Amino acid sequence: MLPQPDQIPKEIDVHLATFRKEPWDVDYNLFGYCPICNSRIDEFGFCACGGAAD
Ligand SMILES: [Zn+2]
Repeated sequence: MLPQPDQIPKEIDVHLATFRKEPWDVDYNLFGYCPICNSRIDEFGFCACGGAAD
């Protein structure tokens, strides 16, 4: 289940603290899907299998 905007207090939102944006603001359309783990690759080139995609 995906987190909803009102479920993560900003004080404990590690993703927000790390990337300065909410998880749902990450652009997954830059790289598409990883051919290895078939997960969406985020704008930093990382995916579910450890960011092996480039
Ligand atoms: Zn992957």
